[in-house]
Amino acid sequence: MDWHLECSDCGVTESAQGLKSVCPACGRPWLVRYPDRKHDLGERDANPVGMWQYRGFLPLLPGEEPVTLGEGGTPLLEAGRLSELTGLAGLLVKDESSNPTGSFKSRGMSAAVTRAVAAGAKSFVLPTAGNAGVAASAYGARAGVAVRVYAPATTPATILSQIRSFGGDLVLLDGHIGDCGREARAFAVSEGAFDLSTLREPYRIEGKKTLALEIAQQLGWTMPDAIVYPTGGGTGLIGMWKGFRELREAGWVNGKLPRMYSVQSDGCAPIVRAFNEGAPRAVTWQEPVTIASGLRVPAALGDALILEAVRDSGGAAIAVSDDSLARTAAEATRISGVDFSPEGGAALAGAVQLRQAGQLGPDERVVVCNTGAGWLYRIPG
Ligand SMILES: *Cc1c(COP(=O)(O)O)cnc(C)c1O
Repeated sequence: MDWHLECSDCGVTESAQGLKSVCPACGRPWLVRYPDRKHDLGERDANPVGMWQYRGFLPLLPGEEPVTLGEGGTPLLEAGRLSELTGLAGLLVKDESSNPTGSFKSRGMSAAVTRAVAAGAKSFVLPTAGNAGVAASAYGARAGVAVRVYAPATTPATILSQIRSFGGDLVLLDGHIGDCGREARAFAVSEGAFDLSTLREPYRIEGKKTLALEIAQQLGWTMPDAIVYPTGGGTGLIGMWKGFRELREAGWVNGKLPRMYSVQSDGCAPIVRAFNEGAPRAVTWQEPVTIASGLRVPAALGDALILEAVRDSGGAAIAVSDDSLARTAAEATRISGVDFSPEGGAALAGAVQLRQAGQLGPDERVVVCNTGAGWLYRIPG
């Protein structure tokens, strides 16, 4: 393998051989490093669509086939009528709803399942706020590996139905994703299942970082001024920040990296609180409540990495109310034709707030991520 793992906190390095969870020295997430990659510009043409066209930046061996369902390659849409709603003339929507499992979780799972299966994983387990469970079940099905999913009983019914449809062995619990995480880890220990939890394995970040590579390519190998991203566990934000930096190191883009803005619901905003307090780490949010289930993450293992990306980029972390994110998602869906999830609505509501506060300029190129499809949250009828 021409990559290795580096601890995001204590900096120790380790070979990437075998199944990997977190740094054994300090328990923090691994980051994948590729010191020997040449990053030849031509290498992206191997496959014209989808995230694996960037295989020069991804954890894949020469000639190796990933476990894929065609994830990535999503549109970066001009905002049209959403520009008026937000006051941002240069608004762009990275629409992740067209991914195979209806959310950007498919990017991370494609990478994680590819590496875990290659390293010999025979079954998977994960806790989920919803969409990660759908993606894990689908990619598990693709690889022919069983997936146990622990989800809060409050998860939207359509998402639960999708998990079951893809053959996920679904267990519902009273509580939040943190409670589900404890059950998942116990199951991993007792049954020998590989734990696909956010940042408890090294490769979901690598899949998510392809968002940054695509955005830069869609902008003609330039960078936007700002990214507005709805944050739960934070892999998307951490991954994009890693992706933009790797692109610049490789010489594919130049200049200033985008400001990264993290948006949470005010019913579960541990990152926002830590950002406002100037703290390097976040404290667990008691009694997390939000209808944007992907944002209902009271404690993120990658809290330090999220805060670092937000601060180092000159961005910010802000909270919006559930009422505002739901109204914004509904309004945006109605006037744009893009199917906004509550989380996408949070990002858009956050962009409005940032514009009003003067943190986003009226003509800046701002990318709002619609991380998943709204239909997953709706009950038909
Ligand atoms: C998981 C999820 C999020 C949060 O993503 P993180 O990378 O965990 O911060 C946001 N939106 C949707 C639709 C999700 O499924």
